[in-house]
Amino acid sequence: MIDTYGRRITYLRLSVTELCNLRCRYCMPEDGICKKDHAEMLTEDEMIAAVEAAASLGVRKLRITGGEPLVKKNILSICRRAAAVEGIEDLAITTNGIALSELAVPLREAGVNRVNISLDTLDPEKYHRITRVGTLDKAWAGIEAALAAGFDRVKINTILIGGFNEDEITSLAALTQKYPLDVRFIELMPMYDSGDFGKAAYLPNTEVRKRLPDAVAQENDGGVAELFRLPNAQGQIGLISSLSNHFCAACNRIRLTADGKLKPCLHSPQEFSIKGMTREQMRAQFEHTIFSKPEQHEDLSAEQRSQAGRNMNQIGG
Ligand code: SAM
Ligand code: SF4
Repeated sequence: MIDTYGRRITYLRLSVTELCNLRCRYCMPEDGICKKDHAEMLTEDEMIAAVEAAASLGVRKLRITGGEPLVKKNILSICRRAAAVEGIEDLAITTNGIALSELAVPLREAGVNRVNISLDTLDPEKYHRITRVGTLDKAWAGIEAALAAGFDRVKINTILIGGFNEDEITSLAALTQKYPLDVRFIELMPMYDSGDFGKAAYLPNTEVRKRLPDAVAQENDGGVAELFRLPNAQGQIGLISSLSNHFCAACNRIRLTADGKLKPCLHSPQEFSIKGMTREQMRAQFEHTIFSKPEQHEDLSAEQRSQAGRNMNQIGG
């Protein structure tokens, strides 16, 4: 489907849970989240009906996200059924990797072809600090399991945080030389009440370019990341500059939250519920949401927070 501004919408991000086994400082509050009533959340059948409705309107790429999707008990069944929906050509998942050592192979067998794993540091103490509860060894074991499981691509998502990990840009980027994986540096976004990072934390991705003088620009692959490659690298480096150079003009996505809200834009408070609807009603709600996509979101900065009205774990990133 094509929206009001001529953008073809082909990508759905489906959040399957708000719950998480980590508590990343930029994503959610320390005391976790106020657990919603089970009845408010989408059932597995509703999620699959929503994917079918989206696919009937031209969505071809589906990303499963959360909260942490791998804490969802029926995650393998959701993936297996979503992969089988007619029209879905690409099924990806975004995870913190903590449960991947057990789940990488079953996810691959369920039809997931690509996996993104979030990792902001290679230092165990800093990993624990930023995730509040996490153990780097577990996340790293998950990355190794993903590499061994035969996914089409494995990507590392690193949130660039001034004063926290700019000194690790070169070592994180060097992972693309050591392993067949991509590393994407993502600018920190000032969400709702997710951590009070000071101005210096919002580093532009030009800092990554400065610290990687040998990185050579690559042709765009149709995604929102600017791509680069280090000498002799097996994977690429991607820069996602949501603040310093937002990509609204190329936005091809729509989001569905675990409590059944379609979001036309990550940073807009607008939401349209599909909870309790039939597939046909969902299809109409998807159309309405796509036509409600704004041309672009407001500028974001340390002073001007996102208007999303939710933290990232309640949207899916
Ligand atoms: N739990 C999974 C994970 O961490 O990969 C999936 C959900 S998480 C909300 C999806 C992505 O959003 C992750 O890559 C995470 O780093 C990113 N994210 C969360 N809060 C963010 C923020 N304030 N700014 C930029 N990215 C953020
Ligand atoms: Fe959990 Fe992912 Fe948010 Fe971290 S970024 S708290 S792993 S949902």
